[in-house]
Amino acid sequence: MPYIENPKTKGSGIVCCIPQKGHCPNKCPECFFQNGRSYLEPLADNLPNMPDPAQVNALGQVVRVNDGNDSNVQKEVVLPQTECYRDKFYNTAIPDLDFPGVVARAYAGGQCTETKRQMPVVLTINPGRLCDERFFTLEDCLGEGMVNGTDPALVKYLVPPVNLMFVRLLVSPFNTELVARAIRHWTDWEIPVVLTFMAYHKEPRLQTVRCGTPCDEAAQGWTERRRTLNTYWAVEAETWASIMYAYRKNKLVYSCGEGMNGSVKCRQCGNCLREYFATKLRIADASCR
Ligand code: SF4
Repeated sequence: MPYIENPKTKGSGIVCCIPQKGHCPNKCPECFFQNGRSYLEPLADNLPNMPDPAQVNALGQVVRVNDGNDSNVQKEVVLPQTECYRDKFYNTAIPDLDFPGVVARAYAGGQCTETKRQMPVVLTINPGRLCDERFFTLEDCLGEGMVNGTDPALVKYLVPPVNLMFVRLLVSPFNTELVARAIRHWTDWEIPVVLTFMAYHKEPRLQTVRCGTPCDEAAQGWTERRRTLNTYWAVEAETWASIMYAYRKNKLVYSCGEGMNGSVKCRQCGNCLREYFATKLRIADASCR
């Protein structure tokens, strides 16, 4: 089936792929891929969606694996199906950053020896229903036993996985305090944080209880407008600017897909390409030690 390009990454040097079939089991509410408005509809006809590896490698393009779905879902399919791309990074919303890839093969005496390295990964730290509730910490990514209450005496020995390109942090009208904590946590570890502003299909409402009475309030700072292909409730330019201004002194905080003039495409952004190549160098450096 012919490859369909993601209009957001078009012309940026990044091409997207989805190796799996069907819907993502994570079922994050508001995910563009889940709601029948993806550029890949009908999904039953258009997945997997894989660009031609010969062309991608010849042009030196970087493959963003899973602009829909999750790279930790059916990993046994995802890893072999993407081995053909020289430059690639994996998107996931599950804190398992183990993405080994073959970087060299040597043949001797009828035997093939493979050299594997971890591949760059982008982790969404507050996906789906977690968006306004909690975020994955470094301890979550380091596995069982480190979760919930790392021994303070051991904290200094934690090291972020070398293949973590950046974390993606979803920003909603309701999670200002969580965003501040997540930025502090991850940038203290020198991990870049890319803010992704939530886009809603329906007007987002805040359900609160005031003086014992349930209240339903309109969210401040989000408005109905067009983004890439569809119309959503998306962040207003002034809200976006004030949030970015609040973090202006933190050199590791960036924004995805938004700017003063509304939606921004990857070609005008460059976050992913910059962090991909920085991570690739870091991985190569670490493997020489
Ligand atoms: S961070 Fe920038 S380059 Fe990466 S997906 Fe968002 S808009 Fe595209």
